[in-house]
Amino acid sequence: MQKADIIRQALHSRELPTLPVVASQILTLTAAEDVTLTSIAQLVSQDISLSAKMLKVVNSAHYGFPQDISSINQAVSLLGLNAVRCLVLSFSFLSMKVEQKANLFDFKSFWQRSLASTVTAKLILDNIENANSEEVLITGLLQNLGELIFAVVFPDKYEEILENSEEITADKGTTERAILSVTHCRMGYEIAKAWALPPSIYVPILYHHSPKSYTGGSADVQRTISAIYLSDILTQIFFSRTPEIYYNKFRKEARSLLMLKEEDIQNILANVHTEIKKAGSTFDIEIKKIRSIQDILQEANIRLSLLNLNYDQVNRKLVETTIELEKLTEELAKKNRQLETLANIDGLTNCYNHRYFQNALDQELSRSSRNSLAISLIMFDIDNFKRFNDSYGHQAGDFILCELTRLIQEQIRKDDVLARYGGEEFVIILPETEKEDALIVAEKVRHACEEHSFQNIHKTHQITISLGVATEHSAQISPLNKTSFIDKTDLALYSAKENGRNKVVVYSPKKRKWFL
Ligand code: GH3
Ligand code: MG
Ligand code: MG
Repeated sequence: MQKADIIRQALHSRELPTLPVVASQILTLTAAEDVTLTSIAQLVSQDISLSAKMLKVVNSAHYGFPQDISSINQAVSLLGLNAVRCLVLSFSFLSMKVEQKANLFDFKSFWQRSLASTVTAKLILDNIENANSEEVLITGLLQNLGELIFAVVFPDKYEEILENSEEITADKGTTERAILSVTHCRMGYEIAKAWALPPSIYVPILYHHSPKSYTGGSADVQRTISAIYLSDILTQIFFSRTPEIYYNKFRKEARSLLMLKEEDIQNILANVHTEIKKAGSTFDIEIKKIRSIQDILQEANIRLSLLNLNYDQVNRKLVETTIELEKLTEELAKKNRQLETLANIDGLTNCYNHRYFQNALDQELSRSSRNSLAISLIMFDIDNFKRFNDSYGHQAGDFILCELTRLIQEQIRKDDVLARYGGEEFVIILPETEKEDALIVAEKVRHACEEHSFQNIHKTHQITISLGVATEHSAQISPLNKTSFIDKTDLALYSAKENGRNKVVVYSPKKRKWFL
């Protein structure tokens, strides 16, 4: 079929979507010379959903009016004739109902892409002095109207075109001409003309893939065409598998077609994804996850650098990455171990803390139960330490606590656990130790303390400690009970204090035994 026949067939098809009523009304109204803002406001107010959408847009951050705008009259007089016309048309196009025929054609993503491209075109024109960036809203939305017509009037042929096109929105001109004898640019142009839209809208539709072919001479139209052409290239960055190609193409053509400066180009590239997201929420069109161009290019770069490597290189890269990862994991484990240790250490004395003592005693008790071993516990407390603090000050007291810990650590075995129970009270877990041996250790510790000269900066101190000892055998209670074990040791310590201090007392259930 010839081009002219196809166009005629489309124009007379019963499938052809008609221009929404409000859209044609607003066009008639604004074409009249005696149009008033009141009559426009009246027209918009008749359509409740349109009015609501208008108010939402006017109150959005995009316009940034300082006060809340609550009536259409107010909105219309603030925005002006042209902006209102553009918004009404945009909304009515975006809500246009079309019966789905072609399976491959996705109506929702068609408007998503059109809106993304429209916003981009507007952003581009915003960087050009004296450019009319409002009209581009409608032209941008309708740029691919031809494709929509193909999809509803010639669904089979249109699917064939899609199957034979590489990228979804790339210029499919050649394929379209081969299959339908006409491009979507020409088809859109004819339909928009038949809908009686003004030339400032339908002419750019014809040239939006070939900006250099326009010879009409209107600077405004030329700029709109170029902006839409460029926006199509730019939005490919979001949807294409080879974003870097469109990135370079956009920068080159933006410079040559619209004389954009590198600074403006970078500005547009940095902001476009945010603008698209904003427009999506303003027009209630859900736009698929859009990432920043910087992120997209970075990812593409990594992919490219991997593609350029041969098999051996890729393998080496993988091994390097694995080694790096293992190193990191090891460092992390080390850090975790350090943290774990820190959580178990007493900040002042550097011996184990209460938390560690409780866990260690749990473990040692269950080991003793399992292996039928004896286990002993020593609890000791500095004698009259309150008085010491009162006489020499807390700093001297702290010094004693640290020095005492160091001293006692020297008296016990590596497997014995010395921990600060709280304040000036300490505990020593003695695994695999019978009562008699525990007593020897306790006495050794008491003696060492009594004998030691605690040499602080200007003064030498003597202190003594009292100790309680208890021992458990798995044969006695099974399983061994931690709380009662600690209680018994504490009782023995109490009795050492009661009986004059600087003593060791071993717990005995019947009578309290005295040693030394
Ligand atoms: P007793 O012989 O009966 O144990 O008498 P005491 O004075 O040692 O016992 P008391 O429980 O009355 O007082 C304990 C003192 O230990 C009070 C507190 O100031 C001191 N103390 C506890 N923790 C610390 C610490 O971290 N640093 C210092 N400098 N003193 C501490
Ligand atoms: Mg004390
Ligand atoms: Mg005390």
